[in-house]
Amino acid sequence: MTGTRPVVPPAQIPHRDLLQLQVLPDENQIRADIERLRKEKNAVILAHNYQRPEVQGIADFVGDSLGLSRQAAKTDAEVIVFAGVHFMAETAAILNPQKVVLLPDLRAGCSLADTLTAQGVRDWKARNPGGLVVTYVNTTADVKAESDYCCTSGNAVQVVQSLPEDTPVLFAPDRFLAAHVIRETGRQMDVWDGACHVHEAIRPEDIQGQQAAYPGAELLIHPECGCSTRVLSAIPGLQLYSTEGMIHRAQASDAQTFIVVTETGMVTRLEKDVPGKTFVPVSRTACCEYMKMITLENIRDSLQNLQPRVTVPGAIRERALVPIERMLAIG
Ligand code: SF4
Repeated sequence: MTGTRPVVPPAQIPHRDLLQLQVLPDENQIRADIERLRKEKNAVILAHNYQRPEVQGIADFVGDSLGLSRQAAKTDAEVIVFAGVHFMAETAAILNPQKVVLLPDLRAGCSLADTLTAQGVRDWKARNPGGLVVTYVNTTADVKAESDYCCTSGNAVQVVQSLPEDTPVLFAPDRFLAAHVIRETGRQMDVWDGACHVHEAIRPEDIQGQQAAYPGAELLIHPECGCSTRVLSAIPGLQLYSTEGMIHRAQASDAQTFIVVTETGMVTRLEKDVPGKTFVPVSRTACCEYMKMITLENIRDSLQNLQPRVTVPGAIRERALVPIERMLAIG
């Protein structure tokens, strides 16, 4: 890291027991209810790649943060059900102030977003007048309102390459994605010391164990992973992939089996989009409790009641829209 190291509050980690899967005896009825309500309410269901398989199965669109932001920006639906986490629903609300944005369980937060506050960004700007702030889309609306650009893992390199040279840059909050961007662009930046607890916990030993179990399998590693720096130094030339990049790579590769080094939900998306190939998770514990809080049941209930809603105050929304629109314009 360069520059002053900010003080980062501890991430809020939910209890693992929230992961326990529910058995739904009336699952077919719930699916039928969702179908009916989706039409009645003129709703669209957007699901992140890390959602449960059955939630991905009923979604109108499944994708990464950038893809979901694009869908949210162009939908004609009056109601957006966000099967994801809170900052994603906030982004949809910023892009669609006139629409109803639902997050079926408001506890669905993000340990990475929790590491960065708007005050932390303001403090960096006070120390670096004229500096530019690039924040990963995994941030609250308050933080986006203080940012110059948003990015996702899919376009972070492009966003940083578009910045004027010789300008101080803060890249926040994910230090592993920042390391990837610095490697790819050669740009020196101040880096916020944040991380996602799921990706940070993935160890090189997890990868080595799966490589021993699946000899010849190709690695698909996300740049947020805590292991990525160590793995890259051990395997020169290894590429990192955003979640959408993983799909393109698996389609283009001659390999038949892939070790998926990110949150386990990505396996569901890859199996659907790249049929006939085998995808194994790097570790069964690489599982985001927040993402798994969204269920068929609470999607049905939120459609029925049009609650809980996510809204963003007008003054924050206007400022947060600027870096989001810059991100969408860059690619
Ligand atoms: S996987 Fe990590 S970055 Fe993604 S929502 Fe969960 S805690 Fe946040």
